[in-house]
Amino acid sequence: MIRLAIQKSGRLSEDSLSLIRECGISFVSSSYKLKTEATNFPLEILYLRDDDIPGYVQDGVADLGVVGQNVLVEAGLPELEVEPLGFSKCRLSLAVPRGEAYASVADLQGKNIATSYPQILGTYLAGHGVQANLHTISGSVEIAPSIGLADAICDIVSSGSTLLGNGLREVETVFRSEAVLIANRALSAEKQALLEQLQFRMQAVRRARRNKYIVLNAPVASLDAVKALLPGIKSPTVTPLAEQGWVSVQSVVNEDDFWHVTDQLKAVGAEGILVLPIEKMIS
Ligand code: ATP
Ligand code: ZN
Repeated sequence: MIRLAIQKSGRLSEDSLSLIRECGISFVSSSYKLKTEATNFPLEILYLRDDDIPGYVQDGVADLGVVGQNVLVEAGLPELEVEPLGFSKCRLSLAVPRGEAYASVADLQGKNIATSYPQILGTYLAGHGVQANLHTISGSVEIAPSIGLADAICDIVSSGSTLLGNGLREVETVFRSEAVLIANRALSAEKQALLEQLQFRMQAVRRARRNKYIVLNAPVASLDAVKALLPGIKSPTVTPLAEQGWVSVQSVVNEDDFWHVTDQLKAVGAEGILVLPIEKMIS
């Protein structure tokens, strides 16, 4: 049995639960329970506040955890990371009041900065040779300048609309974060084997999310051009159509290249392009 800690309720919760489910692990979750046992994998899920997850994994209360790198690095435990998970991407940024002149980080010398991330910000400022007074506050950091508590802030930014609403301007990216899988450094051999099974499944789920299955018809004359656009995993599958001079081509395409590739496929004569989601992709 292995114990995985995830955020009880917040921005990481839903994606953490879907990732576990997409790994083929079934469980009943309810918002008021503290833990759940999976029915088809030796896994127990603990629901915790995200800030508590790195410490619990470090101490072995939980074997594994899903947490943002921002929280992990702030807790001083980056060495627990075993696998990036590709969701909850965000950045920690410095912001100053919009009217304020700002040329570079050096302008923050001696200033008061409010943040919930004193460790990460302290390291960043030290790296730029800047000394500032950091005021650690746990929430509503963005209102600090307007109430006279600070000259600048350092906080998580996603859209920037919260900053705008508080009359602030983003000036530096201090740290980029995403959700990661973390693990205790001294797992038993049995737990280590379960971790590896989980990692194998998570990687298959992530690869599948990044790729699409594509099926199309093309004239035989365009086949070389189509093959060059769709190299696939090994090479595309090509089968003849009942209609003379035409083939059906099946392959896998990276989601990032998808629109670009389909435009080019149409340009070389491909027709009837179908795109399907992939559930799992085993390398
Ligand atoms: P808790 O009650 O568990 O302490 P919290 O309020 O500290 O929750 P959330 O706001 O739920 O935390 O954010 C959890 C994590 O999600 C953050 O630490 C960060 O890694 C990530 N995150 C935060 N804001 C965003 C965002 N706007 N977009 C994507 N990810 C985000
Ligand atoms: Zn938190």
